[in-house]
Amino acid sequence: MSDTDSTAPSALPRREALRLLGAAGAVLAAAPLAHAQTAPATPATPAAPAAPAMPMNGNGFYRQKIGDMTLTVLSDGTAPLAAVLPTWGANPDRQGEFAATLAEYSVAATNTVNHFNPVVLDMGAQRVLVDTGRGGANGQLVANLRRAGIDPASITTVFITHGHGDHIGGLTTNGAPTFANAQHVMGEAEYRFWASQASPSASVQANLIALKDRFRLIQAGQEIVPGVTSVATPGHTAGHLSVLAGSGANGVMVLGDAAGHFLLSLKHQGAYIGFDTDGAQAARTRQVIFDRIATEKLWVTGYHFPFHAIGHLRRLNARSYEYEPTVWNWS
Ligand SMILES: [Zn+2]
Repeated sequence: MSDTDSTAPSALPRREALRLLGAAGAVLAAAPLAHAQTAPATPATPAAPAAPAMPMNGNGFYRQKIGDMTLTVLSDGTAPLAAVLPTWGANPDRQGEFAATLAEYSVAATNTVNHFNPVVLDMGAQRVLVDTGRGGANGQLVANLRRAGIDPASITTVFITHGHGDHIGGLTTNGAPTFANAQHVMGEAEYRFWASQASPSASVQANLIALKDRFRLIQAGQEIVPGVTSVATPGHTAGHLSVLAGSGANGVMVLGDAAGHFLLSLKHQGAYIGFDTDGAQAARTRQVIFDRIATEKLWVTGYHFPFHAIGHLRRLNARSYEYEPTVWNWS
C-alpha cells in the first residue's frame, strides 16, 4: 500500500492525513487505512475526532497509570449508610472527637453511603483482581469490569485480602467461578480461619470452601505474581493481607480493609472500626502501614474509600494522616 492509494483519489496523501490528525490520531489511523479503499472517498479532515482507544474514565471505573502498571479501580456500587458513627469510628470514648472531625471536613455523618472498590492491576502478561465485591444482586463489579473493557475471562489471578462477605461475594456467580481462567490466591491463615468455622456462612461456603481446589494459599510477604507481593496487615481480620505492587512513586499499596475509614482511621491514631476483629491491633497496623505509604510516597487505594478511591497519604504529624484523592483524569 502506498501513500497515495489510487483507489481513493480524493483522499489526502496518507502522510498528510496523519499530520493533520496529529500524534494521537496517527496511532488510530495507522491500522484501518484499508477502509479508504472501500468506503466512499471522504477527505480526512482534522475535525474528525479520533475514537478513544479505551473507554473514558467514570461510569463505575477509573484507570490510573502507575509506573509500568495500569491500576483500574472498579466500583462494586454503594450501600446506604444511615450513620458513619459508631461503625466507622468505633472507640466508645472518642465519639465526640470523631463527630467533630466529620464536621470539620464537612463529611456527612448520616444518610450517606458505603463504597466498595475492588481493583485490577495490569502488569503486562498478568491481570490481577484484588477482592471481588459483594456478588449477588448488589454486586456491580462484573458490569463495571465490562464497562472498563476488561473481560472477566481475562483475569489471570484473583487475590483475596480477607474473608469478609463484601470481599469474597463476587468469587462465584450462580455457583460457578466468576473468573473462570484465574488462579485464586489468599493468605493461608485467613483462608483456613474462615473455611474451618463450625458453621460457615453461606457466603464462605459458596465462595471459599466451594473453590478450595482453585486456591493457592500463601504466607504474608510472599509473591502473588511477579512484581506483586502480599503485606501483613493484621487486625481488621487476623490474617488480613494488603497488596504492594511496584515501589516508591511507581508503586501502589492496595490496602483492602487495612485502610479503615478514609478520614477517621487516618486522622486519629488508635481509631478502629466496628468491623475490625481486633481494634487495637488494627489501629497499630494502620499506623505502621500509613507511615510506610507516606514515607515511600506510594500510591494508595482503600476498599471503602469514596470512589475513585485512589491517591496518596499526607502526613499531618507523626501520628496523623490525610487521604489526598488524585486529580481526576478522564483518560
Ligand atoms: Zn470490607
